[in-house]
Amino acid sequence: MRKLVAMLLLLVPVLVSAQFDKYFEDRTMRVDYFHAGDANDDTYYIDEVIAEPFWGGSKVNLIDETKFGKYLVKVFDKASGTLIYSKSYSTLFGEWQTVDEAKSVQKSFSESVVFPYPKATVTVVLCTKSFETGDYVEKYRYDINPADKCLIKQDNRHKYPVFEVHKGGNGDASHKVDIVIVPDGYTASQMSLFKKDCEKFKKEFFCYEPYTSHKDDFNIHAVLAPSEESGVDEPCRGIWKNTVVSCSYWSLGSERYLMTTDNKTLRDVAANAPYDQIYILVNSPKYGGGGIFNWYCTGVNSNKMAGKIIVHEFGHGFAGLGDEYVGGAEYNDFYNKKLEPADPNVTTLVNFDVKWKDMIEPGTPIPTPATAEYKDKVGVYEGAGYMSKDFYRPMQDCLMNHFQCDAFCPVCQRAIVKMIEFYTK
Ligand SMILES: [Zn+2]
Repeated sequence: MRKLVAMLLLLVPVLVSAQFDKYFEDRTMRVDYFHAGDANDDTYYIDEVIAEPFWGGSKVNLIDETKFGKYLVKVFDKASGTLIYSKSYSTLFGEWQTVDEAKSVQKSFSESVVFPYPKATVTVVLCTKSFETGDYVEKYRYDINPADKCLIKQDNRHKYPVFEVHKGGNGDASHKVDIVIVPDGYTASQMSLFKKDCEKFKKEFFCYEPYTSHKDDFNIHAVLAPSEESGVDEPCRGIWKNTVVSCSYWSLGSERYLMTTDNKTLRDVAANAPYDQIYILVNSPKYGGGGIFNWYCTGVNSNKMAGKIIVHEFGHGFAGLGDEYVGGAEYNDFYNKKLEPADPNVTTLVNFDVKWKDMIEPGTPIPTPATAEYKDKVGVYEGAGYMSKDFYRPMQDCLMNHFQCDAFCPVCQRAIVKMIEFYTK
């Protein structure tokens, strides 16, 4: 009997992988669209459909249960109506909706969703999470026939050579977390500097747990895409640079927020390698970075905090972790305090059972006073997600809070491991 159970367990991944083969080819379909609106509303407009050469994601875990992102893409097999793929994600547009400008101005941002290339016609459904209920609401529906030669672009714009930075185990992309590093602000003559910085990235990244003990679960590729000019934009100082993916400080009004709105070029460049996560490495000594869940992360190469910026931003981009600090952002209503936030490392205590309650030692008061007695204890400390009141973090210190400390708290570490398992198991 035990033998039979073991045989059945062995069979499960084969069957699930067969599910992938039934519906998908081993490459990517990308759908670009414009996401437009203001503080109160959003609308989707389709732009282009593009075939990309690699699929970097899992072939087993095709349905995203995390709901960490503000948005969700669902892909249905049109003939049977079966949900065959879903992924939650957040975007810069979604963050922009929470800044003052969005109260009086309407804007559009280019965005993309990617999924394995379907074998038959699919229905792609784009959903936005309701601020009031926290549930995803369908906003747009679009049918794509993968054999439509006129619709689907196959030209692989922005082709560049790729450099292998790290190969975990046998390296098979469908069982690894695949990071693609995209350079910005490195000229052609600085490509050797970029390669050195990628080695530095790797060294810094694997310094921190849980990445150190999961080194084998990652592949890292870098795209050798040069910029015309060295450095990146600093609009408030009148500095403008012609760079390959157009990163800029002062995004959403915050000096250190280093992001790009040139989504299409970024995706074209990233498509040179299989990826689950895009990391833009910016050639600048000035403190800055950013990270949005399942969207992209940025960080600088030569600031003294560069290593900590890398893992902090990757915490946002990869594991959907929230910031554990107070203030420091220009957002209004980033979270609905009446609901339990999706981010695994912050809570409103509205539904704490689904968070880290199981990791708190009996006798620890909730909320927990931020005193020396509880210094290294998992608890519920007031102040997180930019807010000082009614919003809580798991430890007094964590890399998602500030850079004086050198580790992620146990709650963040558990969330990161869970995400690594999603991509690798
Ligand atoms: Zn933490």
